[in-house]
Amino acid sequence: MPEIQAHAERLEEQFGGRVLTKFVPFNFTALKTAVPAPDEAYGSPLLGVGRRGKYLLLRFEPVTFVVHLMQGGRLLVDTKQSKKPRGGQARFLFEPVERDDGSFDDSALLLTEQGTERRAGVWCVPSADVSSSPPLDKLGPEASEVSPDELAELFAANSMRVHGFLRDQRMIAGVGRRLANEVCHRAKISPFANTKKSGAEGAAVVVDALQSCIAEGLDEERQRPDMSSSKDRPSGVHGRTGEACPVCGDTIRAVEYSGYTVNYCPTCQTGGKTLADNTTSKFLK
Ligand SMILES: [Zn+2]
Repeated sequence: MPEIQAHAERLEEQFGGRVLTKFVPFNFTALKTAVPAPDEAYGSPLLGVGRRGKYLLLRFEPVTFVVHLMQGGRLLVDTKQSKKPRGGQARFLFEPVERDDGSFDDSALLLTEQGTERRAGVWCVPSADVSSSPPLDKLGPEASEVSPDELAELFAANSMRVHGFLRDQRMIAGVGRRLANEVCHRAKISPFANTKKSGAEGAAVVVDALQSCIAEGLDEERQRPDMSSSKDRPSGVHGRTGEACPVCGDTIRAVEYSGYTVNYCPTCQTGGKTLADNTTSKFLK
């Protein structure tokens, strides 16, 4: 998730070193853990903002806050600190710091979510044990770091459709719908190709595609002052049903697959074949 990586980098630049005074969840579902308590981090400076998969990691001592932004969610710089902020799920409060001009910066960080589903969440985990604590303990290797050999092993051990594999955070972490579509297109493979049959060669092609798609996304996101919304993110095929493929000019198609829309180019990816809806066709097996 390049947009989350760039978001983490901006947050670290803006808030690194600020001392946490309070964490305020606005509803019962925002904080997902009871132990350790957020209070344990009070008085600690923000040591860094990282990312694992689709999660942001706000590292204090001895507690790290693991934040999951749902669709459209953000961690926003909050200067107003209104009582009932729109879409607000939780707030991080910090000790004010003096600016060069003598004024004080008492900005907070506000976790927001679009809509009313309240699916965004915060987990407090021991900083010494972040990666082995839920919700991060089940994540596969990072999509940007997985090696061809590692991916070949995972491909061999899991017979899945490539698109489903890419989106499964337990297989590799950090790929959403858009990136899965773009990676399949870049790799010139069918989103429905079988991972096990793809072999080491297929895995190597997918690693190349992952790396180049993620690098492009990061370049784009790092130039922005804030996180892009999904419609602003550049894409070759994602969300472009009916438009011309930027590589070959064929018409980009859409196929429904386990509840979401997959975009692909028949000429680039399926030898010209149109993929049938997974839910109604028995011919794909
Ligand atoms: Zn094409």
